[in-house]
Amino acid sequence: MSCIFCKIVAGEIPCHKLAETARVLAFLDIMPIARGHLLVVPKQHVELAYLADPALSGEMMSMAVQLGRAAQAALQCAGMNFLLNCGACAGQVVPHAHLHVVPRFVDDGIHWPWPQGSLVSEDAAALVQAITERMR
Ligand code: 5GP
Ligand code: ZN
Repeated sequence: MSCIFCKIVAGEIPCHKLAETARVLAFLDIMPIARGHLLVVPKQHVELAYLADPALSGEMMSMAVQLGRAAQAALQCAGMNFLLNCGACAGQVVPHAHLHVVPRFVDDGIHWPWPQGSLVSEDAAALVQAITERMR
C-alpha cells in the first residue's frame, strides 16, 4: 500500500483528525491554502471522486458541510471553497479522492485563475444530449 491517504486512514501516518464515520475521515491539510483548510476522504481507496459510489460522495459532502459550518463558527471566515480535483490534469496530486474545504477571508489574496469562455447555443444542445443520454 503506497497511497499516503490510505496510510493515514490505517493510522500508519499521523494526521490531525477532525471527524470520522465508518466510511469517511476528515483531517487538517498539512500544507494549507488558508488557516483551517481541511480534507474529507473516503476510507476506501478510490482515486477519482466522480467514480466513487454516489452514496459515499454524499457522505463526504455531508461531513464537509458539517465541518464547514463548524470551521466558519470557529474561524469567523467570510466564505469557503469546497473543491474536488479529479485527475492529474485537474490538479489532483494525491491519487486518493479528497474533498478540500478551504476557509476564505475578505481580501485573502487567493485567486482561481481559471479562464472563462462563452457557451454557444448549438454546442449547449449537443452537450445536454451527449451527457444526459449517458447518465446512469
Ligand atoms: P490535491 O492537489 O491532490 O487536490 O491535494 C492534495 C492535498 O493533500 C494537498 O493540499 C496537500 O497539502 C495535502 N497532503 C499531501 N500529503 C499530506 C499528508 O501527508 N497529510 C496531510 N494532512 N495532507 C497532505
Ligand atoms: Zn488510498
